[in-house]
Amino acid sequence: MKALGPIPAGYEAVGGVLAVAGRPVTEWVEEAGQTPLFLYSADLIRARVAHLRAAMPERLALHYAVKANPFRPVLEVFAGLVDGFDIASGGELAIVQQAGLPSARISFAGPGKRDRELEAAIAAGVTLNLESEAEAHRALTIADTLGMTPRLAIRVNPSFDLKGSGMKMGGGAKPFGLDAERVPALAREIVAAGAEWRGFHLFAGSQALDADAIADTQAQAIALATQLTREAGLPLPHCNLGGGMGIPYFPGDTPVDAAHVGERLGAQFAALPDELRDTEFCLELGRYLVGEAGVYLTRIVDRKVSHGEVFLITDGGMHHQLAASGNFGTVVRRNYPVAIANRFGAEVAEEASVVGCLCTPLDRLADKAGFPPADVGDLVAVFCAGAYGASASPSAFLGQGPACEMLV
Ligand SMILES: *Cc1c(COP(=O)(O)O)cnc(C)c1O
Repeated sequence: MKALGPIPAGYEAVGGVLAVAGRPVTEWVEEAGQTPLFLYSADLIRARVAHLRAAMPERLALHYAVKANPFRPVLEVFAGLVDGFDIASGGELAIVQQAGLPSARISFAGPGKRDRELEAAIAAGVTLNLESEAEAHRALTIADTLGMTPRLAIRVNPSFDLKGSGMKMGGGAKPFGLDAERVPALAREIVAAGAEWRGFHLFAGSQALDADAIADTQAQAIALATQLTREAGLPLPHCNLGGGMGIPYFPGDTPVDAAHVGERLGAQFAALPDELRDTEFCLELGRYLVGEAGVYLTRIVDRKVSHGEVFLITDGGMHHQLAASGNFGTVVRRNYPVAIANRFGAEVAEEASVVGCLCTPLDRLADKAGFPPADVGDLVAVFCAGAYGASASPSAFLGQGPACEMLV
């Protein structure tokens, strides 16, 4: 029998049924009128942000990385909780604008920004995190045509990466950002061209659980920002330290010690050089803020036994849960936290695999794990579904279409 990932804190049973926001999920499914359903908890989002604020130095601003979960009601919850939003496409810009989020609090990173995306962002007063010299030149030309002063920061490709991170975004040759040694010259050039200088964006990796590795990377980022600021001979209004704080998905994973990250960052802030004394620092986080606040609910439509193995076949699958199926940047497939939602906490009775309704062997939500007895009509819950579920899965595959989403 294979282990399942750890069920996040904040989930309990009401009358033997998994509850979210105090109500059994069976009721939420009834209200939604369909499965599969992504259910997000506003309370769990608020609790997570409060936990992080309490752990971090007061001076640190918190940004939400929209790509983790761009569901509008979720953005509206974050609007009252975080200091800024990070977007990575013109599509996300449109989403945050429709949600009424103030442009002055938005920054736009990502390689391959098209002219019309640059134009929309500059016109709105959004900060661009420039990914190359060529992009800088296009942005300056577009701003000139619009008669606007562009707000420009430079994304730095640091020479270090985040140790133990699930996704490395810095160190060596990368399509992201400008190699550090070329940054000071571009910074001087865009300031000379009349842009509003917004500083640096350093993003070294994602999905790390080791507090010291995260703190080490932040220290390296501050040291690099200091060096580049001196070389550029410019002030540093803003420094985006990236993110990196992950969540436990797999057996044996443990939560990040946020208090420890915060303590070490506080020590860094206390020892800042004069050049960075007035700099505003921020972290940009996606999954850490919203991942554990979401659960994906799918109904068992068939139960079968093949060569002695039990398969629980659901109406959901990898088209909504690409990462849980093991097909989104994982080398070895391991089980996410998964449970039978209407027998939550019941004793394990058998080994079974939970699969989706797609005709591909890749579509597996839990592999040979222990579950209470489950049959047709029961609900399966996949946890850690608040980030990169609905937004990062191929919902058009096999004509299935997107799942219902609900914030409660
Ligand atoms: C994806 C991304 C994030 C968010 O990553 P998480 O792992 O969800 O915290 C933040 N910043 C940038 C630049 C990204 O590309």
